[in-house]
Amino acid sequence: MINSQTRNKKDQKQDLTKNQKIVLDLLRSSGEPLKAYSILDSLKKEGLKSPLQIYRALDKLVELGRIHKIESKNSFIVCSNSNCASNTIFTICERCDKVKELKNNNLAESMGQLINKYGQDVSRYNLEFYALCKNCKSN
Ligand SMILES: [Zn+2]
Ligand SMILES: [Zn+2]
Repeated sequence: MINSQTRNKKDQKQDLTKNQKIVLDLLRSSGEPLKAYSILDSLKKEGLKSPLQIYRALDKLVELGRIHKIESKNSFIVCSNSNCASNTIFTICERCDKVKELKNNNLAESMGQLINKYGQDVSRYNLEFYALCKNCKSN
């Protein structure tokens, strides 16, 4: 049996490679979800010319829980919680595409119970809710 909590803690301490840091910095300073190709574009200036290098860095950062992939938008965003491993909940604004990451509290447990009824175990989840953000709601 794999103890995922221990594994994640260990990974958190792991030093990031130079490429991973550059990608993480870019996403952090953007504060918005970025598509892989626009990450590629921005990082050409930093000397990161190979898409493979960038995809590798993105994969690893997702694995470490430092960034998340927003599946329906095919884009990446920096994690706004301290550590949510691979379980994520986002709201996506229907009008302006603003993405917000929610803290997932007790959802893991109840999701687990729900899926358990069908004889399966949840390994990870990625929930995306479409909503109107505060800004769009008041405009
Ligand atoms: Zn997160
Ligand atoms: Zn909005």
